[in-house]
Amino acid sequence: MIKENVAEALQNIQRACERSGRDVSEVTLIAVSKTKPLEMIQEAVAAGMLEFGENKPQEMRDKAKLLETPVHWHMIGSLQTNKIKYVVGTACLIHSVDSLTLAAAIEKEAAKKELVMDILLEINIAKEESKHGFMEEDVTEAVREIAKFPHLRLKGLMTVAPYTENAEENRTYFKKMKELLVDIQSKNIDNVSMDILSMGMTSDYEVAIEEGATMVRIGTGIFGERIYTR
Ligand SMILES: *Cc1c(COP(=O)(O)O)cnc(C)c1O
Repeated sequence: MIKENVAEALQNIQRACERSGRDVSEVTLIAVSKTKPLEMIQEAVAAGMLEFGENKPQEMRDKAKLLETPVHWHMIGSLQTNKIKYVVGTACLIHSVDSLTLAAAIEKEAAKKELVMDILLEINIAKEESKHGFMEEDVTEAVREIAKFPHLRLKGLMTVAPYTENAEENRTYFKKMKELLVDIQSKNIDNVSMDILSMGMTSDYEVAIEEGATMVRIGTGIFGERIYTR
């Protein structure tokens, strides 16, 4: 089942690229394996997947230790300061940096481990009460501050668009994200070269790609529904 789902997602990505005149190599598929067991991740690896997304630091660290194949781990969930140590050194990219305080704490841990951590800034593009992330109007200032941190490399922006059954409803938000990225790029801030746009999930990734996503995060569409025990 996972193999077929991966193939279908890749085909949908291909078609969305064709519709929007983009090259398929511009888009990375991240398989969101949160709550799912190691065996399912191994099945996805067998189907060719090498990028995996997790939202809980310890769960990511544990899976990374147990999985024999070296894959790329993406931290996509909200991060508490005391959990950063599980992520820095494990994740290839932290998508969910939603405050300067968190960025500073990641800088500190990366310095301690003598490495440079790639990060994205999470944007609350629809200004939802329930969501984490920077407001659009605060992003440029945050980028200028984060650019000063020697152990962080700011690679782009990420958003979790509103939950909807109709992907078209999120098109305007994806457009806004692209505009925001282009706007920041145009400011030529020292030490910043951002080109990643992480947006689009199972219900809306094709629209996100049409509007410029370079990373899509698909969970349900690859691994099936998640069952939360609490
Ligand atoms: C769970 C999750 C996803 C994947 O969601 P699906 O709708 O199952 O594809 C993507 N991004 C983030 C940040 C998530 O927490």
